[in-house]
This record gives sequence, C-alpha cells and structure tokens, in this order.
Amino acid sequence: MKENILIIGGGIAGLEAAGQLLKLGYNPIIVEKSDHLGGHVADWNRLFPDMSPAEDLVSRLIAASSEANIFLNTEISFVNRLKDSWNIMLSNGISIITRILLFATGFTLFDASKKEEYGYGVYNQVMTNSDLEHWFNTGQDERIPEEGPAAMGFVHCVGSRDEKARNPQCSKVCCITAVKQAIEMKQKFPEAMIYCFYMDLRMFGKKYEDFYISAQKDYGIRFIRGRVSEVSENIEGKLVVKAEDTLSGKPVKVTLDLLVLMSGIVCNQQTCKTAGLLSLPIDSDGFLKSRDNIADITEAPREGIFYAGTCTGPKTVPETLAEARSAALEIHNYILNGM
Ligand SMILES: Cc1cc2nc3c(=O)[nH]c(=O)nc-3n(C[C@H](O)[C@H](O)[C@H](O)COP(=O)(O)OP(=O)(O)OC[C@H]3O[C@@H](n4cnc5c(N)ncnc54)[C@H](O)[C@@H]3O)c2cc1C
Ligand code: SF4
Repeated sequence: MKENILIIGGGIAGLEAAGQLLKLGYNPIIVEKSDHLGGHVADWNRLFPDMSPAEDLVSRLIAASSEANIFLNTEISFVNRLKDSWNIMLSNGISIITRILLFATGFTLFDASKKEEYGYGVYNQVMTNSDLEHWFNTGQDERIPEEGPAAMGFVHCVGSRDEKARNPQCSKVCCITAVKQAIEMKQKFPEAMIYCFYMDLRMFGKKYEDFYISAQKDYGIRFIRGRVSEVSENIEGKLVVKAEDTLSGKPVKVTLDLLVLMSGIVCNQQTCKTAGLLSLPIDSDGFLKSRDNIADITEAPREGIFYAGTCTGPKTVPETLAEARSAALEIHNYILNGM
C-alpha cells in the first residue's frame, strides 16, 4: 500500500509537492480550507517576470496532481500523536493516519485598512495590489473608471518594513509587482500618468531590473523615492497624496484618480493555529520556524514534519515551486532512510 502524506494547503506549493510525491510513488492527500486549488496565484492574472498567465500554471499543477486525494473546504480539527505516526482528524469528519505532514499553508496579505493614513476602506479610489489583480481578471471594480484613471499611484511597503505595523521584514515581491502592475495599467491606458512611491527598490530577481528600466524608459512611469505621509480627498472627489521626495529633499503633492497599496506578505493566523496543534514553533518574523534557515528550510524542528512555500516567509512563484520539489525529495529521503 502507498504511504499517505498529508499536505496542508492546496496552493502552488501544495500542488507541486503533491505532483512530485505522486511520481515518487506516494499517496499525497491535500487538505485545502478554501473552495478552490491554486491559493493566491489562482487570483493573479499575469505573472512577472514573463507576464505568463497565472491560470496556465495553476491548471498545469492541478492536472499533475489530479491523482492525489483532495479535500476542499476542509481543515485540520485536531491531532492525536500515535507511536510513530499521527491520527489527523479533518473538519469533514474523516480521520487520516500518516507519518508525514507537509505544511504548504502559504501567506495572507497585510490588511491595508490598518494603515489608516492611506485611506483604504475610507476613500473609494484606494485599492490593494490584490484588488487590482482581481480587476485584471474580471474587469469589474467600480473604483476604476471605464475610461481609465488620468493619474494614479502605487504605494510600496504597505505593512512591510514597518515597525508600527509590527512587520519590519521586506515582503520581497511587491516592488516588482508594482512595476508589473504599473506597466499593465500603462498598456491599457497609455495616457495615464503613473507614480510609484517607494523607500528602496528591491529588484533582486531574474530580469527584474530590465522590467524596472523599461517601466521608466518605455512607459514613462515616474518613481518617487519617499514615503507617502497623507492621503485625503478634495472637493472634486479626487485623492490628494502627500509625500516627501527624499532624493530632491522637496515635498510632493499629487492629485490622483486611483491609488494602489502594495500590501505585504504576512503569515496567516490559521497557520499558527494549525502549527499550535502540532507544537511547532513560530519564528521571530511571524512565519513557521524551520530547523535552520540555511540548509534545512523545508524541515520543521519536529520529526516527520516538512514545509514548502510562503509558510516560512515571502517567496516568488519560481522559488515556491523549487522549494516544493525540494520538500518532496526531502520527504522521499526521510522515508528511504527509515524515518
Ligand atoms: C499581489 C501579489 C502578486 C504576486 N504576483 C507574482 C508574480 O507575478 N510572480 C511571482 O513569481 N510571484 C508572485 N507573487 C508571489 C506568489 O503569490 C507566491 O509565491 C505564491 O502564492 C506562494 O504560494 P503558496 O502555495 O506558498 O501560498 P498560497 O498561495 O498562500 O497558498 C496557500 C494555500 O493554503 C491554504 N491554507 C492556508 N492555511 C490552511 C490551513 N490551515 N488548512 C488548509 N488549507 C490552508 C490556502 O487557502 C491556500 O490555498 C505575488 C504575490 C502578491 C502578494
Ligand atoms: S519588496 Fe519593495 S515594496 Fe515590498 S516590502 Fe520590500 S521594499 Fe517594500
């Protein structure tokens, strides 16, 4: 009989790991709390750096893991430790005996309404990076006028690199996401004036710098180094955004039709709850704590428990997929070496 491996989370990390574990001859079981597979990537439209459709990737991963047992709208209710395995009780009443668990529980977006000064949920023309991806997918959002915004802005580091928001870490993907989304808006609305308000630009990945240079040279997107200090609304119902340009040392005030907040990547509370059932530690950055952060990032400090993807910190899609493959191999080696 094939060995059960319980995967918590059916985002791209969980799906990729399941596909690899199937190929290695195991019986992966995916427990996904939402009603769909693909996690956040299922909500994105086109992926940097190649602008390939997110839907294609998710469909491919779902096809490759279709032989796995998959429970949607399901969570772990409680866990019983047996001699050399766990009895995992799912919220649908099914109980699973397994010696191996893989956390692929991903991240949650920082709640932008907590940064009151940016006006999310207060002014109608303020949205998040995730809302904008939703609009790219559906074309439906009353905050975006049909003729497009005459002027719009992106605010970097919303809920990241921010002690007050209790998250001093960089979310890694939002600089390049802002550049990608700004270019996409310019492609749709060539006349729009687009500003990105940033602290530093972190273009660490393959071809990211090219993307950034193209945003300036080919699309005329304006990058202003400085934190936005205040967002308000004028009598015409337009947004007034104040910042300080820290390169020129001068205050900046722009009037915009749309403002997009680049909400950061934080660990989801559900992950901490599930980790608590298995007595797993949380790291100082709020994400799951690995055995070590250099050589054993996919291993939990507890035997038989593994991690893949953004449950241990912000990652891009290629990094997440690579880590999921690595976790599948770690699990295989762990089983071969007699646990
Ligand atoms: C706005 C934005 C745009 C992005 N665009 C790109 C891009 O263009 N290119 C790129 O390389 N990267 C991009 N990224 C990064 C990309 O989204 C992540 O790399 C990817 O989502 C990580 O996948 P994951 O499986 O680790 O997590 P997730 O996508 O978060 O999936 C986790 C899954 O686990 C489920 N889950 C969570 N907790 C539980 C639980 N307790 N029980 C059961 N199920 C659970 C969730 O419902 C979810 O389905 C972007 C990120 C953001 C914020
Ligand atoms: S990636 Fe850029 S926008 Fe995101 S937290 Fe880091 S510096 Fe800020």
